[in-house]
Amino acid sequence: MAVQTVHNNAGSADNSSGPVDLGPAAALSCRECGERFELGPIFACASCFGPLEVAYNLPTSGPEDLKKRIAAGPNNIWRYAPLLPVPADVASKPNINPGFTKLVKADNLARELGITGGLHVKDDSGNPTHSFKDRVVAIAVEAARAFGFTTLSCSSTGNLAGAVGAAAARAGLRSCVFIPHDLEQGKVVMAAVYGGELVGIEGNYDDVNRFCSELIGDPLGEGWGFVNVNLRPYYGEGSKTLAYEICEQLGWELPDQIVIPIASGSQLTKIDKALQELIKLGMVEDKPYKIFGAQAEGCSPVSTAFKAGLDVVRPQKPDTIAKSLAIGNPADGPYVLDIARRTGGAVEDVNDAQIVDAIKLLARTEGIFAETAGGVTVGVTKKLIEAGTLDPTLSTVILNTGDGLKTLDAVAPTTGPTATIPPS
Ligand SMILES: *Cc1c(COP(=O)(O)O)cnc(C)c1O
Ligand SMILES: [Zn+2]
Repeated sequence: MAVQTVHNNAGSADNSSGPVDLGPAAALSCRECGERFELGPIFACASCFGPLEVAYNLPTSGPEDLKKRIAAGPNNIWRYAPLLPVPADVASKPNINPGFTKLVKADNLARELGITGGLHVKDDSGNPTHSFKDRVVAIAVEAARAFGFTTLSCSSTGNLAGAVGAAAARAGLRSCVFIPHDLEQGKVVMAAVYGGELVGIEGNYDDVNRFCSELIGDPLGEGWGFVNVNLRPYYGEGSKTLAYEICEQLGWELPDQIVIPIASGSQLTKIDKALQELIKLGMVEDKPYKIFGAQAEGCSPVSTAFKAGLDVVRPQKPDTIAKSLAIGNPADGPYVLDIARRTGGAVEDVNDAQIVDAIKLLARTEGIFAETAGGVTVGVTKKLIEAGTLDPTLSTVILNTGDGLKTLDAVAPTTGPTATIPPS
């Protein structure tokens, strides 16, 4: 299909002519109808309104050569630059350089859960601003630079705001981020400390997101790159690095099962995209894997649809302590359903008390203090094993996507000194 010319009316400040250099990224393609568009700050198909994603000229040098190039790269996501929409010299530019976080062999937790096939926790609390969002933002920064944006912006459930603030500061861009007014203190402080504009909106995340979408068509939003709106196709690609790292850290092997938390569903869909790429490139053996999605009961539009056997995701009004996952109208919800069903996985949810128990379970068994999203993932893993849906004899990876220090309120009421004694 012919590549269409994109008229640059989406708020970009780019006056340059000629194609942008985003390395192996060749075009944007519509996930629904496959139509291709020139690389630009656009996110919806002009023909069918489907979401756009990055299409690549993937390396043709063969898997062994590519593995060698990756191994020789830096200990961050830029080691996978040949598979990402970033220029070849990306590692020399000012960026927060996230990634290559620990893959922890979780034998104690495996024993507690009855998993015999091997269990690992991919611990993304080790990123620069202590959540997986640094991965997606680092890629969006490169797209913002390529399109000439001067302000980096986003609608955020908390972690994204901090990641954007930090990345913009390092890259020398202005930042202006929008959050629901009632977020956890740890998230608000993290978002504000980097010195950009931080705006609390009196509504939930879905209200914040709608507000940002309106800003993009408005003169006020001129020159602004919203990482998860008009830069969303690039942003999403950052999540692929989680899958690349997991497979590389397992010795270029696919895990049998992966459990992934769902907010908008972007991370889960891009992990699947990355696993498909690795199979296509011959980097891993082509064998089946199952993808499981995890939600909080108080915001479970995707698991509700999965369990009801529906293809459409009905929006919900979120009410959960897992605020980083509190998206009631998840953009990638239907694709998550497809992936869970296609791979033989499932989508499940746990309630607030189970989230807190699971945070403590992970901390007690593995010394990892997860934020509420990590509690959701561990809690759902436990529930799926008890239900016989997740096979304990298969190798399993679960994601911890954020740091417990940012959501202290969740566990504070039920933790404290085990004793208080006089000083003699
Ligand atoms: C944003 C976020 C997610 C999930 O994000 P998606 O929108 O589904 O890509 C998971 N965990 C944490 C801690 C997050 O901040
Ligand atoms: Zn389309």
